[in-house]
Amino acid sequence: MKTPLSGKTLPELSSFVKELGEPAYRAKQLHSWIYVKWAKSFEEMTDLPVDLRAKLEEVAQVSLLKLAHMQVSKDGTRKYLFELPDGKFVESVLMSFNDRESLSACVSTQVGCAVGCTFCATGFLGFTRNLTAQEIVDQIMCIQRESGKRVSNVVYMGQGEPLLNTEEVITSIHTISKSVGIGCRHLTVSTSGIIPGIKRLAEEELPIVLALSLHTPDRETREEIVPISKKYPLPKLMEALADYADVTRRRVTIEYVLLAGVNDTDEQARELAQLVRDVPCMINLIPYNPTESPDGITPYKRPSMKAQQRFKHLAESTGKTVTIRLERGTDIDAACGQLHNAYTK
Ligand code: SF4
Repeated sequence: MKTPLSGKTLPELSSFVKELGEPAYRAKQLHSWIYVKWAKSFEEMTDLPVDLRAKLEEVAQVSLLKLAHMQVSKDGTRKYLFELPDGKFVESVLMSFNDRESLSACVSTQVGCAVGCTFCATGFLGFTRNLTAQEIVDQIMCIQRESGKRVSNVVYMGQGEPLLNTEEVITSIHTISKSVGIGCRHLTVSTSGIIPGIKRLAEEELPIVLALSLHTPDRETREEIVPISKKYPLPKLMEALADYADVTRRRVTIEYVLLAGVNDTDEQARELAQLVRDVPCMINLIPYNPTESPDGITPYKRPSMKAQQRFKHLAESTGKTVTIRLERGTDIDAACGQLHNAYTK
């Protein structure tokens, strides 16, 4: 197999050119062609000698991932399905906001997911394997090469639980900030609440945003909709979040998918406000995006606008900032796992 270069760090590129018997400065040239000029082929790398380009053509390839399918939504959101070298697939999304300059890429960290959230299309797939740091980074580079647009923010919110693949996620964060050129402050890692992963991430003291997919303040409902939460009790999870905010000096984000009749009652809104009271955080409400399970059933419904606003108002009672997330790509399969499921059906 040819060696894919996009997604590699500068030291990794240096080892690669050394093995080829080339001088060390060639690594910097390759690094610049990949990360600054977003080259799609070795042919474009015109300051490399012709015989080196021919050699690279034989032993290497620019991209690790292959674009298998893409959907573009009316609002400009682009959803990508990438094929990995072993024939597996992962999804990434590019969200554009017409009113803002910034572009956010949502990346996957695993093929499938073991957490099994009942409202998530990826949860239906089960877990296959972890992605490597290079596979995570190349999703962003592929998006930039395909769209010709600079990604300004990255959210680790695609397929998979990032903190069940913590070491590769941490390595990818370092590569994104050093090579891709997107600062840590523009990176968000979203977890379903894996306490050892939160602690490990805190050790790195990276100024990234940590988001917790909480989805309900009551234990019973949470264990039902986020089955892995049985392992990580809520009080301990809140403690880990408060410690994380303390070490990194950054507010965490509480993500809350609103499911009609499941977690949108007045009592749950008030309990939510109490639960996160001592955690430096803001709360992001996400109205549910209907997802079909493999048997064709849509298990949940989105609450009405009025119910969403009421929940927001009650959740604000202890003074936390509460927002309702702007929806992207609802006319395409933009919830994680949906494109994969539709494509591989
Ligand atoms: S929401 Fe995230 S953690 Fe839960 S099953 Fe889906 S991919 Fe996994």
